[in-house]
Amino acid sequence: MLSAPVTRDLEITIIPVGEPLYMLVSDRTRERALEKMRADFVANSSHELRTPLASLIGFIETLRGPAADDPEAQQHFLGIMAEQAARMQRVIGDLLSLSKIEISEHSPPKEMQHLPFLLERIVAGMEPMLKAQGTQLVFAAPADLPQIQADADQLTQVFTNLLDNALKYGKPGGEIKLVATDQPDTRFPPGGIIVSVADDGIGIPREHIPRLTERFYRVDKGRSRSIGGTGLGLAIVKHVVNRHRGKLVIESEPGQGTVFTVWLPGPSR
Ligand code: ADP
Repeated sequence: MLSAPVTRDLEITIIPVGEPLYMLVSDRTRERALEKMRADFVANSSHELRTPLASLIGFIETLRGPAADDPEAQQHFLGIMAEQAARMQRVIGDLLSLSKIEISEHSPPKEMQHLPFLLERIVAGMEPMLKAQGTQLVFAAPADLPQIQADADQLTQVFTNLLDNALKYGKPGGEIKLVATDQPDTRFPPGGIIVSVADDGIGIPREHIPRLTERFYRVDKGRSRSIGGTGLGLAIVKHVVNRHRGKLVIESEPGQGTVFTVWLPGPSR
């Protein structure tokens, strides 16, 4: 058997099984793209963890040396170290969530869930943060919405991430709208439930929208990191929505705000 690459992504294999001559042409474009995605993911994850780790190591050296006899400086450095450690913890937590969701992605959830309940609990948990930022939350989810097959923990993660982002990238003192409905929307198949999270914040330039759900993709890296982002929130959202066989639509206008709309299908027959 003789194999020879024709181009980087195309390989020809000649199989000597007598006459006629068999030739296998394999297109390795997809395989290569997956390999690259995997390699990028490992490189990005390492980078995201290495940066706070390097900073921790630096501060430990400072605490042992120049700051050893300076209690005020020690307190200051310990504060920064705590922030860096918390950042590593958030990245590791999100990476673990993502890998768990990916493992479950081929088996859609079976449990029936009542979404208004779930959303109410999330909203209650966010009350202190909303108050601290002076943000108004308009919440509407009719109690009689039909139940759907869903994973409650994963959907809690989805709407927590979207509301978290609406707060992080929203206008201080602005408004967030969280609306759940079973009214038809021509963008989605009939049936099911639609939940939208809208903010009136900084918005997202059009060219970034298609890439937002990639792991570690951020419009403004510095801003995301300084407000505690991991760059994994929307990747988690996309994978959970995929597992539920749902759809995610992102609409945004820079300077005006952003709307994330999640459609989740009704129970499968
Ligand atoms: P992060 O942890 O950085 O917020 P996400 O995956 O949740 O990561 O979001 C990816 C990027 O998408 C963010 O860094 C930000 O640039 C952009 N983004 C997400 N939600 C919003 C929003 N509501 N308004 C403006 N930009 C947003």
